[in-house]
Amino acid sequence: MAAETNPFESLQSQIDDAAAHLEIGDDVIERLKHPERVLETNLTVELDNGDLERFKAFRSQFNGDRGPYKGGIRYHPGVSRDEVKALSGWMVYKCATVGIPYGGGKGGIIVDPAEYSETELERLTRAFATELRPLIGVDRDIPAPDVNTGQREMNWIKDTYETLENTTEPGVITGKNIASGGSKGRVEATGRSTVLAAREAFDYLGKDLDGATVAVQGYGNAGWIAAKLIDEMGATVVAASDSSGGIYNPDGFDPVAAKEHKNETGSIVGYEESEEEITNEDVLTLDVDLLIPAALENAIDGDLAEDVSADVISEAANGPLTPEADTVMEDKDVFVIPDILANAGGVTVSYFEWVQNRQRFSWSEERVNDELETIIVEAFDALVETYEEHDLNNPRTAAYVVALQRVADAYDEAGSFP
Ligand code: GLU
Repeated sequence: MAAETNPFESLQSQIDDAAAHLEIGDDVIERLKHPERVLETNLTVELDNGDLERFKAFRSQFNGDRGPYKGGIRYHPGVSRDEVKALSGWMVYKCATVGIPYGGGKGGIIVDPAEYSETELERLTRAFATELRPLIGVDRDIPAPDVNTGQREMNWIKDTYETLENTTEPGVITGKNIASGGSKGRVEATGRSTVLAAREAFDYLGKDLDGATVAVQGYGNAGWIAAKLIDEMGATVVAASDSSGGIYNPDGFDPVAAKEHKNETGSIVGYEESEEEITNEDVLTLDVDLLIPAALENAIDGDLAEDVSADVISEAANGPLTPEADTVMEDKDVFVIPDILANAGGVTVSYFEWVQNRQRFSWSEERVNDELETIIVEAFDALVETYEEHDLNNPRTAAYVVALQRVADAYDEAGSFP
């Protein structure tokens, strides 16, 4: 099963695929395949009943050649050291793909947040922030939201850091709420880039997005916003899933009303407009024009890939396709817009948030969205140029060719020290 694929090995094989098209020494490539450092820490948190519980947590700083380490913090029972390492590496190549001045990092706590109260989660988050304090900083390492974390957690981390450092430094973390120095458009940014990239891909392939059918796997922040925005662009969302199951209506449904149903009941399953309930796996294999995987890594392995019938995939999640699935997509001529471009809107608007924090000046939502669109369109064009120049069949390899060269150039400029 797909769950056995080690995401860190997937990252390394993606780097190798791109390195084969570049003239970068093996010694430098080797360096770019491993994190610079990984913090592993055990957090002891007092529960509401007075008991103590230990939680394992990580922060991986993968590479800082192009700027401060940057990347989210995930709360999930499936978090592992290798997963965090992979996710931090994907951040390096994501930031390089869209050309924003950051390296890559990622953190995670092994926890199912649904099992804990808000006060317990606050103590857990502040305990992690205390461990992170010496590692993070506005020019050092800048965390952000990821799976199961959001504005609330970012505000706690910011407050803990600022209190311990006796300063005001909102740019130490991004994804905050607006009152705490967040950026307009940040919450929607991951879903927005996913659909902007899909729009560019449809245009490139000569396909019409108007009336195109779309399936969305995962209805969290990235997935549901992508569904809403692609519907606004004229496409028809026919299927969606969350961890409880899926819904399907061949005539399409209203993504906003489905989200309201999820807010009320905890799941999109049972949403009244939906004609049929289907499984999560069915959503991934439906015959649609566009598939948006927006949950976790390894959603599509080599076996399931054989049954995927979409023409275009835009990866809102990080690492949803295993390397075996990628090979199948290449053979089937499915155009996969890789995570490091498709979902890069999140970190791009995090970058805008950081810039605004440093300027102590806030941008309008229109400016945020316009500048995001410019960056995603330029990154897509650079991907296509490389894809054609190297005669590649896999857009992911094209993105890595662009990104790896940019990171290697930064390393070359700096030289090796110590
Ligand atoms: N967690 C998001 C990602 O995987 C956002 C990271 C950020 O904003 O720094 O790209």
